[in-house]
Amino acid sequence: MKRNGMYILPERTYLIAATFSLLFLLFGISFIFYAFSLNERNISEYIRQTTKQTVMEVENHIEHEFENLIVLADLVGKQNIFEDTATFSIFAKSITSNHTYLNIGFTDVNAQAVWMDKRGGLYYGDFSKNGFVTRALNGQKALSRSYFNKENNTYVNYYAVPIYDATGSITGTLFAANPEDELRETIDRAIYAGNGLAHIIDSEGNYIIKSKSPLVINPGNNIFDLHFKLPVQLKSSVLSNLAAARGSYFESPYYDGNRLVAYAPLNINAWHIFYAVPENKLGVEMKTIIIWSVAIIAFAAIVSVALLLIIKRISKQRQSQLESIAYYNSLTKLPNLQKFLIDAAKLLKNRGDTKYALLYIDIKGFKYINDLFGREVGNRLLRYWGNYVAAINQKGEVCAHVNADIFVSLRKYTSRQDLEARFEGISRLLGVYPEILARGYKIDVYGGAYLVGPEDDKLSVSDMLDRANTAQQVVKSGKKSGHFNFYSAQMREEKIWQTQVEARMDAALESNEFEMYLQPKIAIQKNCRVIGAEALVRWESPDGYITPDRFIDIFEKNGFILQLDRYIFEKLCRYYRENILNKGLPTCILSANVSRMALWHPDFIKTYTDIKNKYAIPDQSIELEFTESLAFENHTHFQTIVSICQGHGFLCSLDDFGAGYSSLNILKSIHVDILKLDRLFFQYGNDPERGKALVKSIIDMAKALNMKTVAEGIDSMEQVDELRTIGCDAIQGYVFAKPMPGSEFLEFIQKWPTDKNPAL
Ligand code: C2E
Ligand code: CA
Ligand code: CA
Repeated sequence: MKRNGMYILPERTYLIAATFSLLFLLFGISFIFYAFSLNERNISEYIRQTTKQTVMEVENHIEHEFENLIVLADLVGKQNIFEDTATFSIFAKSITSNHTYLNIGFTDVNAQAVWMDKRGGLYYGDFSKNGFVTRALNGQKALSRSYFNKENNTYVNYYAVPIYDATGSITGTLFAANPEDELRETIDRAIYAGNGLAHIIDSEGNYIIKSKSPLVINPGNNIFDLHFKLPVQLKSSVLSNLAAARGSYFESPYYDGNRLVAYAPLNINAWHIFYAVPENKLGVEMKTIIIWSVAIIAFAAIVSVALLLIIKRISKQRQSQLESIAYYNSLTKLPNLQKFLIDAAKLLKNRGDTKYALLYIDIKGFKYINDLFGREVGNRLLRYWGNYVAAINQKGEVCAHVNADIFVSLRKYTSRQDLEARFEGISRLLGVYPEILARGYKIDVYGGAYLVGPEDDKLSVSDMLDRANTAQQVVKSGKKSGHFNFYSAQMREEKIWQTQVEARMDAALESNEFEMYLQPKIAIQKNCRVIGAEALVRWESPDGYITPDRFIDIFEKNGFILQLDRYIFEKLCRYYRENILNKGLPTCILSANVSRMALWHPDFIKTYTDIKNKYAIPDQSIELEFTESLAFENHTHFQTIVSICQGHGFLCSLDDFGAGYSSLNILKSIHVDILKLDRLFFQYGNDPERGKALVKSIIDMAKALNMKTVAEGIDSMEQVDELRTIGCDAIQGYVFAKPMPGSEFLEFIQKWPTDKNPAL
């Protein structure tokens, strides 16, 4: 969302971001737990695998030793070397010298043994108590526990196999002793010694080969000889597994932490590989990683949530700052139009049965308050007004300071009187505003209301405001009396009319639908000569004849009046050239209306002078009529334009004098040639004598200032007589002639008795 050039994230974005961080956190943590359990499984799997591996290596090693012996036993059986001690001696020596055997020997079927050590010494003994010999005599491959061997000062294991004669019957056993370390090394190789320890144990947990790893801290001969008590259940389950030659895995507390243990049966002597790893040896890295990861992820999530909160806070602050810039009037601190449109639309959407009206209020001539008393005074007035408006604002209503002196509001009401009373309140309040009242100025407030109808959902708030404004303008412009006005269907029709007029005006000008009519001006003092005529536009549209009051205002607002006036002015000049000058008729003064806009148009004087010259119109033959309100608005500028026009040979008149803001004072600073008194002047009302006296004083003043006077809209001879008496120079009114087409005007001047005094 972009406001005042800055981006503000919508609430949703934060929610989404927060949800994401949370999900991220959850995902991260569960991933870690997953990794953790995976790791645990991996560790146990690793241990089992290592155990299996060890079992295989050990079994291979043992098998290999047996295979060696079996080959030898085969030789022995065939050659019967055991019966010839000398031959045996050579045989045994060669084997013991290039093999790991510490000694090698044989027994007869009665387990009477003879053997030789590495140094060649021959020994005899009774092995009938030795299980491995007994097992070998029974046809098994037998491996003994560790025996201490005095000759070599070391522990050894005996491997024994039966010797078969040619008939396949056992004739004795062949046995050899290997240092216990052979097996131990095999085990250590398999487990990558260092990470753990492995023993060979029997089915009761007695060590067969006890690891020499420094991790071994059990002093005894049995894995259960511990300095602490294993849980009874664990011990019995291990024992029963061992008895049943089943491998398994368990974790057990140890004095230096947990130990992870696996054991698996060997295929010999009901022995087992018993493998134990301190948990910290394997798990430490992973655990550290996991702990750090959890910490980092949690930290990241916390930081991102915190950041999000901070960003949200900052952006909220910024948003409210921006809103106050974007949505509030800096002077009155009231909502501005933008905010009003949003809030009012919301209220209207949920209005239910509540009756609402839009009010549009402004001060007539607020600009003058600023000009006359200074902006500061104007600003104080607006603040005073704004405070009042804010104070009377009720729940479910909104008001706004649109700009300058324009205030709008959406009000609840029960009757039209309600709204009128409310307007009166504001009007009265401003009327007594001390700072301005003290300077002798009366503030004039105007208001318009649009009553929101039940079917107005298609209208936007700004359309409704336009309507309230239209209603307001109707009273402000004096088209209707009073200060407050309700929008009516008629105004709507006018709006529609305006749209139609605007749609057709250009084409109408193209196709010459605008006609110039002329209304004669008659002198009334010395004689009743036709002194001239005023050009008045008529629109002969295909749908009929349209009078200027129906379109001039519209053209003045949309600017088309500039084109139209120029067009009529050119018609007037051409008319003058072709019908008066070329025909040698007596010259007269033809006048054209100049609208307010032309006065500010940079090309106005050049355009008009060019046209006047194009038709070679003599100076002082064309009169330009400027309305009085123009002079009032900016009389220095007005005077400048008038002087330039006069310099180019135009006569200038002040039109509609008395209709609006007449100020006799202004007359003194404006040097027009003719003063045209507005029709309103002669509607004297209930004090006719006073009215006449006023007119007389104006005419006297005009005379003193060297201006001619023309009375407009005169429709009775009685008025003509009165005007003659008080010194008015000429009359333009129905009493003598209505506006007429140019051709008729020609007839009119020719028929008019020029020397006749109209009073006679
Ligand atoms: P205005 O310039 O004050 O023109 C005089 C108006 O008074 C004319 O109205 C005329 O027909 C009317 N009038 C003259 N005598 C009488 C009378 O005895 N009784 C009554 N009731 N009315 C009388 P019109 O022609 O309808 O023009 C109305 C206004 O439209 C003019 O007022 C002028 O302001 C404007 N207008 C007309 N033509 C043009 C034009 O070509 N350019 C511009 N800018 N404005 C024009
Ligand atoms: Ca006029
Ligand atoms: Ca006039």
